[in-house]
Amino acid sequence: CEAALRRQETISRLNAYIPNAVVETTKSEALLSSQRYEKGTPLSPLDGIPIALKDNFCTAGIRTTCGSNMLKNYVPIFSATVAERLQKAGTILMGKTNLDEFAMGSGTVDSIFGPVKNIHRSGLCYKFIDTSGEAIHTSAMKPTGGLEKDDFYITGGSSGGSAVAVAAASAFLATGSDTGGSVRNPASFCGVVGLKPSYGVVPRHGLISLVNSMDVPGLFARTVDDVAAMLAVISGLDPKDSTSVPSNMKTFELPESPSIEGLVVGIPKEYHRPGMSSEIIDVWTMIADLLENKGAKVREVSLPHTKYSIVCYSILNPCEVASNFTRYTGVEYGQRMNSSQSMEAMYALTRSQGLNNVVRSRILAGNYFLLEENKEKYFKQALKVRRLICQDFNKVWSEKVNLLLTPVTLSASLRYSEFIKYDNRSQTATQDICTQSANMAGLPAVSIPISLNDEGLPLALQLMAPMGKDVEMLSAAKWIE
Ligand code: GLN
Repeated sequence: CEAALRRQETISRLNAYIPNAVVETTKSEALLSSQRYEKGTPLSPLDGIPIALKDNFCTAGIRTTCGSNMLKNYVPIFSATVAERLQKAGTILMGKTNLDEFAMGSGTVDSIFGPVKNIHRSGLCYKFIDTSGEAIHTSAMKPTGGLEKDDFYITGGSSGGSAVAVAAASAFLATGSDTGGSVRNPASFCGVVGLKPSYGVVPRHGLISLVNSMDVPGLFARTVDDVAAMLAVISGLDPKDSTSVPSNMKTFELPESPSIEGLVVGIPKEYHRPGMSSEIIDVWTMIADLLENKGAKVREVSLPHTKYSIVCYSILNPCEVASNFTRYTGVEYGQRMNSSQSMEAMYALTRSQGLNNVVRSRILAGNYFLLEENKEKYFKQALKVRRLICQDFNKVWSEKVNLLLTPVTLSASLRYSEFIKYDNRSQTATQDICTQSANMAGLPAVSIPISLNDEGLPLALQLMAPMGKDVEMLSAAKWIE
């Protein structure tokens, strides 16, 4: 824990953590944990493990900002179920992590606390060398050379703070939230494992809502085994979340040496996207070939409605956002901006000052799609397309395919200066094309780090599996890792 605290300090310029006073409790919790170990009564296999929580998970008594002015001073009186379960397991909270405002984004560049910087190419890249958790520079560490002053590589998003916290080993485990890729995307850019569980397996209670029908608490760790250990602790039915499901993942261990013999792995041809970098295609081909050579059956499959997924998501996401965000009026929730003119003027001021352009434009778009005269044309059509996307997957599973192997993003991490130029951040980025469908269909998906490119930036691949097959998927991910 002390080593983790030191690393947290070392990486402070990457901006992964929200300024919050949790360090004192961190130290006292660590002490209690070591006493439990001395007595031989640890609370769980995760007792004493340093963790981080994305700052959209409510934590009792610790402010929870969503990276937004609106919740800048919000101190919840309760904790998210996930936070509670991790605490009961004896984990130690290192801090809350930075994110795109209300988890809307693919870069972690839109937070009131400023953007998060990737640890790769920052001159700070660390890797474990021993079980004591001490870290050293690795050969993967490339100097910052070639970058303009003040430029950096983005972490991906929106859970970039958590991805960096884990990549830097300032926390061994972290939560994220994944609505359209916000765990897998930064996991891929930062070279850590990022799991989006099946919808409902991990309860959402206390995760501040973005899109209720797609939101899933996600997990970051440095290895697939660690992700699995965390999943066992946080999964399972929660009476406070009516969409949660009983879990068969409470007690499981991944096989020591998993087998892929006879596994049928589909390669969806629609995931070959224009603009996909050749290095991503190369690792995709390399791992597909490896699986085939070692006993899996690899075959091309088709998910024909993939091409509509961005458009479909871009309608459904704002519709649920528009509905969820009615609560931020400054009366029920949110930092109130006073206006002496009228109640409406107070609402307007509160919302215009409390929410950034990305959030406000989604509220506007959502309310437009939901207008009486538009709802058939946009909202209901998009729901039908979502159904077709789900059916594409079901068809593939019915053809005895066990898993799908795809890229996570179209390229390795981008420079900040490049990203803010091309990314129309009020809409969802093109980088999300490989990740969103899993959210619309509720499927489990995991981002697995594969290698580093010539510039020292991580390249990753994604596995997707049928609903509820999280463990089988993780087992194959462990084989690939
Ligand atoms: N980039 C997507 C969006 O902005 C995904 C966000 C997420 O998964 N939280 O909607």
